[in-house]
Amino acid sequence: MSLKGKTAIITGSTSGIGHGIAEAFADEGMNIVLNGFGDIKEIENIMADLKKKGASGVSYNPADLTNGQAAAGMVEKACEEFGSVDILVNNAGIQHTAPIEDFPPEKWDLILSLMLTAPYHLIRTALPVMKKNKWGRIINIASVHGLVASPYKSAYVSAKHGLNGLTKVVALEAANTGVTCNSICPGWVLTPLVEKQVNDMATKDGTDFDTAKAKLLSEKQPQVEFTTTAELGALALYLCSDTARNMTGTHLSMDGGWSAR
Ligand code: NAD
Repeated sequence: MSLKGKTAIITGSTSGIGHGIAEAFADEGMNIVLNGFGDIKEIENIMADLKKKGASGVSYNPADLTNGQAAAGMVEKACEEFGSVDILVNNAGIQHTAPIEDFPPEKWDLILSLMLTAPYHLIRTALPVMKKNKWGRIINIASVHGLVASPYKSAYVSAKHGLNGLTKVVALEAANTGVTCNSICPGWVLTPLVEKQVNDMATKDGTDFDTAKAKLLSEKQPQVEFTTTAELGALALYLCSDTARNMTGTHLSMDGGWSAR
C-alpha cells in the first residue's frame, strides 16, 4: 500500500525526533502537519526541505500543546487543510530533572499536560476520523522511561509510563477498526533535549561535552551509541505499513539494550 497522499500530524516536529519522522514521511509523499516552537525562518526552511524531499503538502500549526483546546484543534485544522488525518504521531516533549522534594509543581503540570494530556486530546479528536476512514495509525513517542525509571525524572517517567498505558487502552478500543496504536521507546538520541542534559553533566563534573556524552551513554546503554532520528523515522514508517497491520497495543524499544538490563 502506498502512503502517498496520507496526512500525518507530527507534534514537536520542528526539532529532533519529530523532525526525523517528518523527513521519513516526506520521502513517502505524505501530507505533513508540522508543529512545535522555533524561529519562523528556520521552520519555513524545514517546510521547504520536506517539500523538496517529496511531501505532497506541508503545513505548520504553531499550537502550544499545553493548551488542551489548541491540541484538539489541530485535528480539525488538518482536516480543513488536507481533508483528513490518517496518522498521528504524539512526539512533543520536554525534560526537567530534580529530586522529587524539590520538583517544582508548575514543571510537573507542564510535563504532564504536554506529554500525556495533549496526546489524549489529539487521540480523542483524531480517532473518529480514522475510524470513519477504516484506516489509521497512532504512534506515541514514549521512551525507555516509559518502561524503567531513573532518579530525578519523576514527571517525565510518570508521563511516559502513562503514555504507554494510554497506548494500550486506545489499541483495545480501536481493535478491528483498521486503526492501530503503538508506542516507540527510544533510549538516548542526541537531540537538543539530550544536549542540555550532556551540558549539565559536563558542568557538574567539570569535564567537556564529549567526555560527558560518553559517560551518559555508558551509564545506561549496553550499546554505547546514540539512536539516530532517521532510525526512529524508519521505525515509525514501518508502523504505518500494511505489514504492521496486526501490531497494536505494543511498545517498540530502540534503546541500545537499556531496558534489557
Ligand atoms: P527536541 O527538544 O529536539 O524536540 C521537542 C519538540 O517538542 C520541539 O519541536 C519543541 O518545539 C516541541 N515542543 C516543546 N514544547 C511544546 C509545546 N508546549 N507545544 C508544542 N510543541 C512543543 O526533543 P526530542 O529529543 O526530539 O524529543 C522528542 C520526543 O522524544 C519527546 O517526547 C521525548 O520525551 C522523546 N524521547 C527523546 C529521547 C532522546 O534521547 N532525545 C529519548 C526517548 C524519548
